[in-house]
Amino acid sequence: MSKKILVLPGDGIGPEITAEAVKVLDACRAAGLDAELDEGLVGGAGYDAEGHPLPESTLAKAKAADAILLGAVGGPKWDTLEDLSKRPEKGLLGLRKNLNLFANLRPALLYPQLAEASTLKPEVVSGLDIMIVRELTGGIYFGQPRGIETRNGERVGYNTYVYSESEIERIGRVAFEMAQKRGGKLCSVDKANVLEVTILWREVMNRLAPEYPDVELSHMYVDNAAMQLVRAPKQFDVVVTGNMFGDILSDAAAMLTGSIGMLPSASLNERQQGMYEPCHGSAPDIAGQGLANPLATILSVAMMLRYSLGESALAERIERAVGQVLDAGLRTADIAYPGTRQVSTVEMGDAVVAAFANA
Ligand code: NAD
Repeated sequence: MSKKILVLPGDGIGPEITAEAVKVLDACRAAGLDAELDEGLVGGAGYDAEGHPLPESTLAKAKAADAILLGAVGGPKWDTLEDLSKRPEKGLLGLRKNLNLFANLRPALLYPQLAEASTLKPEVVSGLDIMIVRELTGGIYFGQPRGIETRNGERVGYNTYVYSESEIERIGRVAFEMAQKRGGKLCSVDKANVLEVTILWREVMNRLAPEYPDVELSHMYVDNAAMQLVRAPKQFDVVVTGNMFGDILSDAAAMLTGSIGMLPSASLNERQQGMYEPCHGSAPDIAGQGLANPLATILSVAMMLRYSLGESALAERIERAVGQVLDAGLRTADIAYPGTRQVSTVEMGDAVVAAFANA
């Protein structure tokens, strides 16, 4: 049966980068992928057109889709909206929550051609290939109670860091299975020396470990993990952690690779339905100028093919095509350096499509 892909361009550079990713999807369809594409509004674009960052029509299409390709949301135009529930990012949070996208996969892979782009020494990062598995729908970002209230005459802000055993187990299983398919190493990151919720996290990871004898499980406190990521990042294969620690560590890992414009991500639920998006935001500073790097979005299409559409061979072809384009010296402004040829967003997309034909 034909698969359904929903494209949500969003705001800022979102429409430019998704347009290039759609060209790659079209090339995959020409190569045999049986998929229908539809489009919807989200974020500021949803608010402007329908008064809500996640319009009902978009949510209905998202629920019916096998996979969603999202550009990015947000921008200064909507930063002053007083009603926080109408801010663009609420569109994203709403999609994650409604589709129960609890597993966020964030690879930090450094293409050898870009080792010079990292702020770390090439020998520290060259060959880097980490997969961060972040729990996305629980933890302190969603825990109740939360709020700001007055106690004894002064204002107090509070949040709740909470995980149930079943929430930890399901993200743990995603991470163990990911480690089985990769290098066989899983590092669980917590703060079990201070936080009870992560004592439970560690216990559950240890309980699952015997079911995956081919995976070597280790544990690390989050402060040490932050240090190790910049000291010796190649020691990591798969990292699993909760929502807040994962938010922070995955951004740090992203920067090890030099350009946020290269990094894709996937958010999956238990049915392998997924939302695929670049790690970066809507980059309003460069929107509409043809400067945006579309490769993170194109590589998100590869993740979509692998994790939601069961088309690993096409995913590998896209990744090879991106490698070939980099080998040929083509670079958008964010990854350009002397000796390379700077190209626009559209030229980069076209080059990947051309390379895909023979990849
Ligand atoms: P950003 O990722 O949009 O931009 C940070 C810097 O990286 C900017 O200098 C930008 O020009 C550059 N950059 C980002 N993507 C690029 C690409 N593909 N090619 C070349 N350069 C790129 O982060 P920000 O500036 O903190 O946020 C801008 C807006 O994006 C805000 O409204 C924020 O809320 C939103 N945002 C959205 C998401 C999302 O949709 N998932 C994520 C983060 C931020």
